[in-house]
Amino acid sequence: MAALNIGVLALQGAFAAHQEILRDIGCTTRQVREPKDLVGLHALVMPGGESTTMSKLLLTSGLFEPIGQAIDDGMAVFGTCAGMILLASAIEDGRADQCSFGVLGITVQRNAYGRQVDSFETDLDVVGLDEPFHAVFIRAPRVTRFGSVEVLARLDDEPVLVRQGKAWAASFHPELQADDRIHRLFVECVEKE
Ligand code: GLN
Repeated sequence: MAALNIGVLALQGAFAAHQEILRDIGCTTRQVREPKDLVGLHALVMPGGESTTMSKLLLTSGLFEPIGQAIDDGMAVFGTCAGMILLASAIEDGRADQCSFGVLGITVQRNAYGRQVDSFETDLDVVGLDEPFHAVFIRAPRVTRFGSVEVLARLDDEPVLVRQGKAWAASFHPELQADDRIHRLFVECVEKE
């Protein structure tokens, strides 16, 4: 199969690290900053960063509607940390005008694991991986409610990696580890669909 074409939302945040991993596992990647960058993508990664800022930039760049349309038309998405917030159906402790794509049946609470100084790392058992994944949580969102998602990893019984069809989200930062296994799981799923 030809290399998958995966965009990385590059309005703000940790997009470069995602691009590097995706390239290393053989995907073609492109930074997405305006609607024309979406053409021909199989998938779009939404990185960690600041979801309130990204939400504003999604609107001012004119990307919000075309991304929603592309998802409806079958583009896969993978949101990490702030990116998870952008994909959630409901946001607690967000800004009143904060927008999200609502493609995952989860409610997330922003910064619910504490402030920047409360960032932490831990090993997670992940469905589909033989060995635990070392995960970094930075002012991470907490999934406070969930419905029709498949839970691929939990921390203290709460979902931290979820999937609903072609939409995936992690409350941690898989791109910050020298471990590409979660990106590979996502890419394999996109290839199969
Ligand atoms: N707390 C951030 C937010 O609400 C997310 C943090 C992150 O992406 N590392 O957008």
